[in-house]
Amino acid sequence: MDKLKVIIVGAGMGGLTTAIAMRQAGYDVEIYDRVRQLRPAGAGISLWSNGVKVLNRLGLGAEIAQIGGTMQRMSYLSKTGETLTDFSLQPLIDRVGQRPYPVSRTDLQQMLLTAFGAKNVQLNSQCIAVEQTEESATAIFADGRRATGDMVVGADGTHSIIRTTVLGQPTIRRYAGYVNWNGLVEANQSLAPKQSWVIYVGDHQRASMMPVGGDRFYFFFDVPLPKGSEPKGDAQEELSCYFKGWAEPVQRLIQQLKPTQTNRVEIHDIEPLPTLVRGRVALLGDAGHSTAPDLGQGGCQAIEDAWVLTNVLLTTNLGVADALKRYETARRDRTAEIILKARKRADMIHGKMPEATQQWYADLAQEDGTAILSAIAKIILKGPLN
Ligand SMILES: Cc1cc2nc3c(=O)[nH]c(=O)nc-3n(C[C@H](O)[C@H](O)[C@H](O)COP(=O)(O)OP(=O)(O)OC[C@H]3O[C@@H](n4cnc5c(N)ncnc54)[C@H](O)[C@@H]3O)c2cc1C
Repeated sequence: MDKLKVIIVGAGMGGLTTAIAMRQAGYDVEIYDRVRQLRPAGAGISLWSNGVKVLNRLGLGAEIAQIGGTMQRMSYLSKTGETLTDFSLQPLIDRVGQRPYPVSRTDLQQMLLTAFGAKNVQLNSQCIAVEQTEESATAIFADGRRATGDMVVGADGTHSIIRTTVLGQPTIRRYAGYVNWNGLVEANQSLAPKQSWVIYVGDHQRASMMPVGGDRFYFFFDVPLPKGSEPKGDAQEELSCYFKGWAEPVQRLIQQLKPTQTNRVEIHDIEPLPTLVRGRVALLGDAGHSTAPDLGQGGCQAIEDAWVLTNVLLTTNLGVADALKRYETARRDRTAEIILKARKRADMIHGKMPEATQQWYADLAQEDGTAILSAIAKIILKGPLN
């Protein structure tokens, strides 16, 4: 398609990756975010190989490898510290052709901002509405500014207002039934082996550590709780209570984390949407498909979206609205499947049906890695760069 002007709303990992891909395609790109200073919500993220492949294709392979942790093994342990299963991730890497990279979110955002040029992101720009005609689409901001281009990408996250424009009605986010705490700590062998992803399971809860760049662990804890449960003190106090009696490394992790730098999030997703596109407006990332983090795929899907959207524009010439429909066709089922699989997994992990969770614990004790790696590979290999 001829030189397009693309307006992107939201400079999270989805919006920034789209901006980089669209600019490489030769399009004029403007990107806006409501915040005064970009700071990612959350501490770390696991970028599975499908996301990493897109970043490689955009020329960011060396950069992501530099900020990524070296995750060689994966272990599940019982809450009291007995190993249920421990296996190498190498068969997965060999099968899909690229290792996954757990990263700190700040490092990832900085990497994407450096690639696009931080000064090119227009901050302090809260989009309040989107309009379109047959020829153009316009983002309208709270201070009255307008940005018009050939299309608008709504990469404005899980609380997207552009989603309301596309669907014609607001979407209700669905509570996934559990609270997640996450943060970063210095990596330390007394917590976990430095190149393993370690997950303690029991009582429908999890405590986990993953190596990220800079010799740190990204940690998270999950506890099923009623919606809107008030915090019982700071993160250390709450976690000491919920994980009382768990293995020594879990206790040490709770002691070493910094409560003021630990996030507490009630996990939500949204039902798969009937459409991701309206005319010249496309939803991308969490705006189009917020998913529970139980497959570690939400951000990876935003990155896949960026690649697919750019490519339908590059490779077809029946107009923007036609290309966006092709984007929707390519992405709707893929992302719906991820939402539903992640939800099912969240329910299993967090004891929605306690017998299923008990069965999962029993299965983990019989696992040699084959079934787990095969399930992860299946998701990765359905990505656009396979
Ligand atoms: C606890 C947890 C763990 C996770 N772990 C993983 C993982 O391991 N792997 C993985 O791939 N994914 C993971 N995810 C999912 C991942 O974080 C999201 O899918 C990803 O951040 C989505 O990126 P995005 O760019 O679509 O949205 P966001 O990152 O939310 O960015 C949206 C941007 O839009 C801006 N914005 C919002 N509204 C407006 C507006 N009106 N006007 C202008 N700007 C606006 C915001 O300021 C923000 O910068 C996890 C999520 C959670 C909650």
